[in-house]
Amino acid sequence: MKVALVTGGSRGIGAAISFELASLGNKVFVNYSKSAEKALEVVECIRSSGGWAEAVKGDVSVPSDVDSMVRSIREEAGGVDILVNNAGVTRDNLILRMKEEDWDYVMDVNLKSAFLVTKAVLKDMMKKRWGRIINISSVVALIGNPGQTNYCASKAGLIGFTKALAKEVGTRNITVNAVCPGYIETDMTVSLPQDVKDKLLEAVVLGRFGTPEDVAGIVGFLSTEKASYITGQVFVVDGGLSL
Ligand code: NAP
Repeated sequence: MKVALVTGGSRGIGAAISFELASLGNKVFVNYSKSAEKALEVVECIRSSGGWAEAVKGDVSVPSDVDSMVRSIREEAGGVDILVNNAGVTRDNLILRMKEEDWDYVMDVNLKSAFLVTKAVLKDMMKKRWGRIINISSVVALIGNPGQTNYCASKAGLIGFTKALAKEVGTRNITVNAVCPGYIETDMTVSLPQDVKDKLLEAVVLGRFGTPEDVAGIVGFLSTEKASYITGQVFVVDGGLSL
C-alpha cells in the first residue's frame, strides 16, 4: 500500500481526490487546517467503504505545522509516496484595492505551502526511489482573471515549481505534474455572483461546470504506475473553458 497525503483534503476537490486515492488502494492522510469535522467525515466515508484513511491537522503555510504533520505520518505509515498539493485559498480584489496581507496570504497558502510540504516529504521519496507529486494549479494561471492577480500568480508559480522540480528529481523515479481545473463547483466558487457564473458557463465548451470528481480522476491516474513516464506536464481540466 502506498501512502498518500492530500493537503486540504477536507472539502471540495481535495476530498474527491482523497476518495479517489483511497479507492485505488492507497493509505490516505487527509490534511485540514480548520475543517476538522469535514475531514473526519471524509475519513469515515473512506473507512466505511473499506479503505484506509486518517485525518491530519496542519496549516500548510506554517513550517512547524508541516514538519510535525509529515513526521507523524512517517512514524505511523513510513513516509509519503504520493503528495497532492491541493490546499488553496482566494482573497480576490482588483490590484489597486488589494492589501499586501491578501497578497501574502494567498501566496503563502497556495505556493509556499507546496515548497514546504514537498521539501518535507522528498527525502523519503528519494530513499524509496519512487514518488508522485501532483500540484493543483488552476486554468487562470494560464489565461489570467481580473481581480485575482495574487491567486493567478500563485497558481502560475506552481506550474514553474512543477517543471523545475520535475527536472530535479526525475532520475529518482519521482514524477511531478500539475493539474489546472477550470470552474469547479465547491465552497471556493459557490459565492460568485450569478451573472459572473452565467457568463463563465457560456465559455465552457462542454456546457456545464466541473465537479470535484472530474479533477480527481486525472489526479488518481497520475498517481499510478500507468503514469510513470509522465512528468513536468500541465493538465487542464476545464471542460474547454480556455479554448
Ligand atoms: P475549497 O472547497 O475552498 O477547499 C479548500 C481546501 O483547502 C479545504 O480543505 C481547506 O481546509 C484547505 N485549506 C485552506 N487553507 C489551508 C491551509 N492553510 N492549510 C491546510 N489546508 C488548507 O476549495 P476547492 O475548490 O476544493 O479547491 C481545491 C484546490 O483547487 C485549490 O488549490 C484551488 O485553488 C484549486 N482550484 C479550484 C477551482 C474551483 O473552481 N473550485 C478551480 C481551479 C483550481 P480547511 O477548511 O480545513 O482550512
